[in-house]
Amino acid sequence: MAIKDEILTGEGCRFDEAGKNGGEFEAGLPDTIVIHYTAGPSVASAINTFRDPAVESSAHLLVDFDGSVAQLIPFSNIAWHCGRSSWLDLNGINRYSIGIEVVNAGPLEKSGNLWYAWYGRSYKREEVVRAIHRNEDKRTYWHRFTEEQIDSVMNICKVLTKKYKIRYILDHEEISPGRKRDPGPAFPLEKIRERVLVSDRSGRNHEEGLNEKAFVSAPSLNVRSGPGTNFDIISQPLSRRTEVLITDRENGWAHVEFTVTGWVSENYIHK
Ligand SMILES: [Zn+2]
Repeated sequence: MAIKDEILTGEGCRFDEAGKNGGEFEAGLPDTIVIHYTAGPSVASAINTFRDPAVESSAHLLVDFDGSVAQLIPFSNIAWHCGRSSWLDLNGINRYSIGIEVVNAGPLEKSGNLWYAWYGRSYKREEVVRAIHRNEDKRTYWHRFTEEQIDSVMNICKVLTKKYKIRYILDHEEISPGRKRDPGPAFPLEKIRERVLVSDRSGRNHEEGLNEKAFVSAPSLNVRSGPGTNFDIISQPLSRRTEVLITDRENGWAHVEFTVTGWVSENYIHK
């Protein structure tokens, strides 16, 4: 995979312009990737929706079950995939981000031995994940993403990060909490952040090292992609008493694991 003239190229990639184009990004942008699910059965149904003149949404990329990618908007231009959204002190995240839609049914309802999407199609047990959504407190059913889709999104994020100096990889549910549930708990966002943003920047092997439990002692603690305040904040802050696992240390900073992994100042955690 590579990017040529603002278009993704390589095996399994095609350009098929569709959907609302919001004009060019400002200089220095995009610097963010936002992941979504389509809440639909196929690439074709998603493209049909985006081609509908009455639909006020679009995305840069659509990732099919086999990992193949349809690009609908060039990376130089804004797509309308976030709606009302905020991250850190920014609002309206479309202006900062590339939108990746992964074909997936989203939430499923169990009935008998099958699980049903909102559009009526049924899915089998092996296609279902039961998990708690980050913004909810009960376990619910979700359509499983394929390994090919996850590998493909990982590769896309790596290529985009190199080309556009991406600082954040976010779920839609993080920037529009309460309003959006995608991509949901079946999508391994933390793994992708860790592989693309954290490991690549710090160049360290987090597998070796400590494994000590600690608790956050500050009311709110920033998590960064590397050991220092010059590194980007990569998730919502941790709240007091959050339990973390320290896996590495450097210059007064601890690499910790919780639901995401990243670096925090050692001054604000205790054992
Ligand atoms: Zn979305």
